[in-house]
Amino acid sequence: MEIRRDDTVIVLSGKDKGKKGKVLKAFPKESKLIVSGVNVASRHRKPRSQQEEGGIVKMETPIYACKVQIVCPKCGKAVRVGHTEKDGKSVRVCRKCGAEL
Ligand SMILES: [Zn+2]
Repeated sequence: MEIRRDDTVIVLSGKDKGKKGKVLKAFPKESKLIVSGVNVASRHRKPRSQQEEGGIVKMETPIYACKVQIVCPKCGKAVRVGHTEKDGKSVRVCRKCGAEL
């Protein structure tokens, strides 16, 4: 999986198509991501005690990484990720402008 935490991604399909958000959590094993503001589910919660308030709790649920594309922070576009070597390590680069991701 190319996408990591703190990447900015854009959603390519589904009900949140076109939405941009920051990756809050990545699950490489499942190829899933939690993206800020994307795939938000509302849970209706009942108050369980007198101190607790009921209401609607909104939380992001994971989406498949193949449904999003990385947005390059430099050129601001949804881009494909390339790889290059730098100091013997593989780094991710933007295929459009060459910036490191
Ligand atoms: Zn770029």
